[in-house]
Amino acid sequence: MKYLSEFRNVSAAKILVQQIRDRATRRWVLMDVCGGQTHSLVRYGIEQELEEHVDLIHGPGCPVCVTSTELIDFAVSLSLQPDTIVASFGDMIRVPGSRDSLMQARSRGGNVKIVYSPVDAVLIAAKNPQSQIVFFAVGFETTAPATAIAILQAAKLGLQNFSVLPAHVRVLPAMQTIMEMPGNRVEAFLAAGHVCSVTGFAQYEPFVSNYKVPVVVTGFEPVDLLGGILRCVEMLEQGICAVDNRYGRSVCRAGNESAQAIINRVYMVDDRDWRGFGTISGGGYRLRSEFANFDAAKRFERCVQTVAVESLCRGGDVMSGRIKPKQCPAFGVGCTPESPMGAPMVSSEGACAAYYRFDPLQLEKPR
Ligand code: SF4
Repeated sequence: MKYLSEFRNVSAAKILVQQIRDRATRRWVLMDVCGGQTHSLVRYGIEQELEEHVDLIHGPGCPVCVTSTELIDFAVSLSLQPDTIVASFGDMIRVPGSRDSLMQARSRGGNVKIVYSPVDAVLIAAKNPQSQIVFFAVGFETTAPATAIAILQAAKLGLQNFSVLPAHVRVLPAMQTIMEMPGNRVEAFLAAGHVCSVTGFAQYEPFVSNYKVPVVVTGFEPVDLLGGILRCVEMLEQGICAVDNRYGRSVCRAGNESAQAIINRVYMVDDRDWRGFGTISGGGYRLRSEFANFDAAKRFERCVQTVAVESLCRGGDVMSGRIKPKQCPAFGVGCTPESPMGAPMVSSEGACAAYYRFDPLQLEKPR
C-alpha cells in the first residue's frame, strides 16, 4: 500500500478492528506519543471501536503543549521590547504563559509574527535589519533540523539581528519519564512515525530492554494506527518485548542521517523543563557554543519574572496518560478552544483539543 486512500480504506480498517478484538484476551493499555496520532484515534472513532479491548491513552505528543511557562513569558517580554519581533508557529502564539500569551502580548502592542517555517524568520531578519528577529523554536526532533538550517543560513548571510529561543524537545526521554512515574499504566507504546523518520527506531531498542515494554512505530492514518495497535496487542499477548516498525514507507532503523547530522552540528542534548512534567534529563536541545551568538536566551536579558498561578488545568496528567481529557473537570466547561485554560486545549495537536473537536457528544455525558 503506497497511497493515502489505502490507509483510509474502511474495509481494511474493519478487518484490523476485528483482528484486534479477536487477539485481545484482556484490555491492554497503549499510549500514543504523537498529537497527530491522538487526533486520528479520536477523529476516526478508533478509541470507541476498541474501547472494550484496548485502553488508548495519550502521551506528551504536542511540543507546543510542553513548552515551559517561563519560556513563553520570556518570548512575551521580548515581543514587547522596542525594535524586536518574535516569530513563531500559529499554535505557539495562543498558548498562555503565566500572565499572557504571545497573542495577548500582540494586542498590547507586542510585535509577534506567525511563520510557517524557521527560514521565514530568517527572511524577515534579512528584510528588517533595524529590528531584532527572535524565532521561538518549538517542536520535536522532526522540526529541529529546520531550525538548525535557519541558523546555518543566518550565519552564512552574516545576519546580526537573527536569534532563536530554543524550545525543541526530545521524545524518548519523556517516554522514559512516563515509565518511571508512580502509577504508570503504559503496557506498550505507539511511537511517533514522523519523529522516527528523523531519529530512526534503533533508539528504542535499549528502552524496550530496560522497561520491558513493546514499541511499535506507526503512521497517522487509520489503517496505520490499527496495524500498530494490532501489533502491540499481538506482542503483549505473546509476551514479546521488541521494537516493530509498521511505518516502513517513511521510517528505517537508522533514520534520516543527514537530518541527524544537522541536528548534531547545531545542538547539544540538554535537560529541558517540560510543562506539566518538570525537568526531563536530556529532554531537549541547546545550541552549541559556536552558535551562541544566535541564542536569544544569551543575547537578551531575561527581564521578566514568571508568576506562580493557581491553575485548574490538569494538562500534565493528560499528557502523561494519567487522565483522559474528558476527566478534567474544566473540559468543555471552563476550558474550550475559544477560552482555553491550558495548552492541550490550545494547540491543534493537543489531546484536549482533539476530544473537544471530534467528540463533542461526550460533553453531554455525565463525567
Ligand atoms: S481540558 Fe483544559 S484545563 Fe483540562 S487539562 Fe485540558 S487544557 Fe487543561
